[in-house]
Amino acid sequence: MATVTLREEVTELLRELIRVDTTNPPGNETRAAELLRDYLGDHGVESELIARVPERANLVARLPGGDGPSLLFLSHTDVVLADPSEWSADPFGGELRDDEVWGRGALDMKGQVAAEAVAVASLAREGFEPRGDLIFAATADEEVGAGFGAQWLCEAYPEAVRADFCVNEGAGDRLQLAGNAFYACSVSEKMSAPFRLRVRGRSGHASMPGIADNALVKAAPLIEKLGAYKPERRLIPEVAAMLRTVTGRTPASADEALELARSVAPLLGELVEPLVSLTFTPTMIRASRKRNVVPAVCEVTVDSRLLPGQAPEEAQAIVRGLLGAGDFELEVLEAHGGTRSSMETPLWAAVESFVAQLEPGARPIPVCVPGFTDSHWFREAFGTVAYGFFPSRAMVAEVAARLIHSADERVPVDDLETGVEWLRHAARQVLDA
Ligand SMILES: [Zn+2]
Repeated sequence: MATVTLREEVTELLRELIRVDTTNPPGNETRAAELLRDYLGDHGVESELIARVPERANLVARLPGGDGPSLLFLSHTDVVLADPSEWSADPFGGELRDDEVWGRGALDMKGQVAAEAVAVASLAREGFEPRGDLIFAATADEEVGAGFGAQWLCEAYPEAVRADFCVNEGAGDRLQLAGNAFYACSVSEKMSAPFRLRVRGRSGHASMPGIADNALVKAAPLIEKLGAYKPERRLIPEVAAMLRTVTGRTPASADEALELARSVAPLLGELVEPLVSLTFTPTMIRASRKRNVVPAVCEVTVDSRLLPGQAPEEAQAIVRGLLGAGDFELEVLEAHGGTRSSMETPLWAAVESFVAQLEPGARPIPVCVPGFTDSHWFREAFGTVAYGFFPSRAMVAEVAARLIHSADERVPVDDLETGVEWLRHAARQVLDA
């Protein structure tokens, strides 16, 4: 392997991973796990397949260290559906075109899977002796989250994946703001806390609406109230730190933060806006199944995202206060995410020093992502400091955002190489004796 560069190594591994179709559902991640096991084995790194069902294996590898802090490289091997008719390349071809690797998962997130594997393999070849364990987990089932991947591993095999620090997906975009370059590093996530309103009336024949009590019509003013609600704005530490880094000024309130962000760049305003309050977004409705029957029940499902640290009970109290009393019940659906990690850690210092080395003058900014990733399982189970960071410099952030979960997904080889360098840097900074 002496003549193969890390750049070539990560490119070839990613191309092979893309050719393994792990569309979830059904996933079939075991073939990707086996590919990684064979690759790591060729470089002297032992790994194991841990699976709840045989066809959906997670791969976990470990470079054992002393009793110092441990670092986990986390990733997922499943991908979302690709419709070949929308693509200008085979989504499972792993084609290398104009120094970019094309295929489903190139950005989300087989590119990072490959970079993590190559970082671990190359460190092992060099005889790297970490003072704590370096762990690599390429998990199944992130895109659907049906209980075969990270969540299940944390519950059923905590000793295999427990770590003090973790690098996962979630951010890494390069942003040009106020004349300076910044790289987004995700340190927290909003919480998804959906709920359902079950509005009750009385059924009857639609030809004589007067004798019935139409639950669908009764739901309408409730939906309007939710849609018109202006939530109280709150300044979270991530937003304050982000604006302090970009502008040198610390906003005193969420309103000031939003104003300041918009004055720097519309893009920054868009980034900050979902991070200053919770949201209630009615998205689904269900009432009568027959045109001529007045519905006795109408169910309205509301997507709701809370700020990290905000409890679902608080949001429910707001909804009850907003809607008042009426013929409806509020059903709370399962909440996920909403976790955060500290920004004052050795892993943050590693992000900072890597960004400075990648691009002199550039700095990382902490971001809270409006969605959530598998990081929250690790923060909840082990108190892990988990960041979403895979720097992308060659691909413009707006282009990448359009390609994720969409057609013609691809990743520049330059970014893959940078990714490997970042992960090797993180391991050396956090784990070097
Ligand atoms: Zn992903």
